[in-house]
Amino acid sequence: MRIGATTTYRELLDSKPLRAKYPLIAEVTEHIGDLQVRNAGTIGGGLAHADPAADMPPVMLVLDATFVLQSKGGKRSVPARKFFKGPFTTVLKPGELLVEIRLPGPPKGAGMAYASFEQAASGYALAGAAALVAVAKGVIARAELAFTGVAETPFLAPATKPLIGTKGDPDAIGRVAEAAMAGVEANDDIHAGREYRLHLARVAARRALTEALARAT
Ligand SMILES: Cc1cc2nc3c(=O)[nH]c(=O)nc-3n(C[C@H](O)[C@H](O)[C@H](O)COP(=O)(O)OP(=O)(O)OC[C@H]3O[C@@H](n4cnc5c(N)ncnc54)[C@H](O)[C@@H]3O)c2cc1C
Repeated sequence: MRIGATTTYRELLDSKPLRAKYPLIAEVTEHIGDLQVRNAGTIGGGLAHADPAADMPPVMLVLDATFVLQSKGGKRSVPARKFFKGPFTTVLKPGELLVEIRLPGPPKGAGMAYASFEQAASGYALAGAAALVAVAKGVIARAELAFTGVAETPFLAPATKPLIGTKGDPDAIGRVAEAAMAGVEANDDIHAGREYRLHLARVAARRALTEALARAT
């Protein structure tokens, strides 16, 4: 599926094909800002803005999206996993626009979920986790987990491998959620201290993985 960068959150919510194939995008979009923000804000603008607490970046990471960037000089494709460079910083060069988001088909029967703890006034994530879990022959064949709000950029957790080939019991999910925060330099601000934020991220990871697994068929 391809999403034009000027697509508003409202248009994402109104798209039946998108809801059917990538329910995670619709689920997350429903929680972005308020009605006015969703009516006027675009997915491309949100991604290019690269707020470290934005909700959509980890979704793009678990879905393994590709962003098409265009300038007068030409076009290039950048994986979402290489797009975010720092707070409000991406690989976009001056004069370059994000013009398209390309989403590969999710694995057959994959379950997806997002869990976040929101800053009460803005709705931005103090810590949020997106998960995608695919099950084949009764065991987990693929598991992706990504975070927002925790560190300076959204990031994909490399620690999901122990779930592959298992049924994903709660202890195993808990261990993966714990391991995902190992060595993470968490943000520390007036909204949430470092240790509290790490704790929220572990809980969000556990919830997102558990829900994604429950939704996988
Ligand atoms: C009150 C409020 C609450 C919000 N709550 C949330 C929330 O809970 N979760 C969340 O994730 N976000 C939240 N947001 C942020 C919202 O998602 C973004 O403001 C919105 O997506 C930006 O889209 P826009 O089209 O208005 O971009 P703009 O604000 O117009 O642009 C943002 C930046 O990106 C650049 N830009 C825009 N489009 C492109 C493009 N295609 N290519 C390259 N550069 C581009 C602009 O030049 C600008 O620098 C909130 C915003 C507000 C105002």
